[in-house]
Amino acid sequence: MLTDKLKQIVGTTGWSTDPDTLAPHLLERRGNLTGKTLIMVMPETTEQVSRIVAACAESGTALVPQGGNTSLCAGAIPDDSGKQVLLSLSRLSAIRSIDPDNFSIVVEAGCILANVQNAAMEVDRIFPLSLSAEGSCQIGGNLATNAGGINVLRYGTARQQVLGLEVVLADGTIWNGLRSLRKDTAGYDMKQVFLGSEGTLGIITAASLKLYPNPGNITTAWVAMRSAQHAVQLLASVRQQLSDQVMAFELMSDRALRFVRRHISDVTLPFGDDYPWHVLLDVAIAEHQELLEAVLGAAVEDGIAVDAIIAKSAQEAEKFWRIRHSISEAQRPEGANLKHDIAVPICQIDTFLTRGQALLEEIMPEARLVAFGHVGDGNLHYNIAQPAGANAAEFLAAGSGLSEAIYKLVDDLDGSFSAEHGVGVSKKALLAQYRGSTEIELMKTLKKALDPQNIFNPGKVF
Ligand SMILES: Cc1cc2nc3c(=O)[nH]c(=O)nc-3n(C[C@H](O)[C@H](O)[C@H](O)COP(=O)(O)OP(=O)(O)OC[C@H]3O[C@@H](n4cnc5c(N)ncnc54)[C@H](O)[C@@H]3O)c2cc1C
Repeated sequence: MLTDKLKQIVGTTGWSTDPDTLAPHLLERRGNLTGKTLIMVMPETTEQVSRIVAACAESGTALVPQGGNTSLCAGAIPDDSGKQVLLSLSRLSAIRSIDPDNFSIVVEAGCILANVQNAAMEVDRIFPLSLSAEGSCQIGGNLATNAGGINVLRYGTARQQVLGLEVVLADGTIWNGLRSLRKDTAGYDMKQVFLGSEGTLGIITAASLKLYPNPGNITTAWVAMRSAQHAVQLLASVRQQLSDQVMAFELMSDRALRFVRRHISDVTLPFGDDYPWHVLLDVAIAEHQELLEAVLGAAVEDGIAVDAIIAKSAQEAEKFWRIRHSISEAQRPEGANLKHDIAVPICQIDTFLTRGQALLEEIMPEARLVAFGHVGDGNLHYNIAQPAGANAAEFLAAGSGLSEAIYKLVDDLDGSFSAEHGVGVSKKALLAQYRGSTEIELMKTLKKALDPQNIFNPGKVF
């Protein structure tokens, strides 16, 4: 029997069918879906992963890879058939090697993102991928979703951090592509196929990742803005005048801050929540502080910004960032939300917000917009909270028309309905609607070639 074979491969501590142990692994992060599983296996080595996949391939059994289960589109849980095997990568978590001179690190898929960052820091380097879930998400999950986060502006998404991969293929074969080269034009770049494939093409078991020089002190500033368009102008000016040393440039609406003030303890908003928009930015290299002061001062004089403050210490910078990282949490007590993780070209952000506001007023005038995001990447979390005191279920049911209109607007502006969270289960219909038949057929050709039995995470993406 398959389960006996799997138990034998991973040993007594490497599997579970206990409902209490499984419960958090079967509930997706937003609490909208629950799955069931035949068994959860937790391999400790790539060789074990290979034998698990081979056993599942032999019996034609589906496998769902899971990292930290922080996916925001239900990509990491099995369906409710109870027939799929849940493959947790959490015990495959070693840092295999680190090479400060080559600015690279080789880590296993289950390594928590914060642990990769810390290992880099120990040798005076940084691994720049950073997101609010970094204490629990795993590097394998980050690569499988091509995660973004706050430092994409300067360093790129997860995809851009990868030098090489080790992947278990659908028949159990291990592909060792763990090279740590900056230049390699030998044939197709196969690692790209697995990055962002959400566990549907192969199981990532290890990765060679790029490290960067430690910029040392980082200068953090908070800026109150009159409009989002002014924030876009400010970004261009800061990038140009500070030799592109901007690491993060986050935009937050007044309502997002109001929710933080209302629901998060020990938070002081630098300029209250009176101004319509606020920017939080990080600049690498402390020596740029004077220059940044001059640029922000000029922006205030020119009317681009209303007011600006530079954090006086690392502690103050941390307090600023805590506000930004608390926005999602602060939305929860306000009731249900329609969430849209969208991207548009930066030059279209203002148009998107203006036309989005018109749609909101026309379709659901009582609903409350909570917009924030990584404006330097054109990525906004365009969330709409239910009217205060409304019935959550009724609001969500009525909101589908508004979501459709917003996605249509994003498409009209040449944007994407999924900037950084992936497709998973929740956005499958949007992929079919907005990616065009040629692109979808190309994706399906890859899927058929690499996973002909459809055993890897079936029902996700397509
Ligand atoms: C509070 C919070 C903040 C977030 N902020 C951001 C953000 O700023 N930017 C952003 O991009 N995302 C963000 N996310 C979403 C999420 O954290 C990312 O998608 C993250 O990359 C997922 O990592 P994970 O280990 O939790 O993967 P999981 O959720 O476990 O899995 C995600 C997908 O990858 C697949 N997968 C996992 N591991 C492997 C593997 N080893 N091989 C093959 N496939 C695999 C799964 O099957 C699933 O399809 C946030 C989530 C939360 C809860």
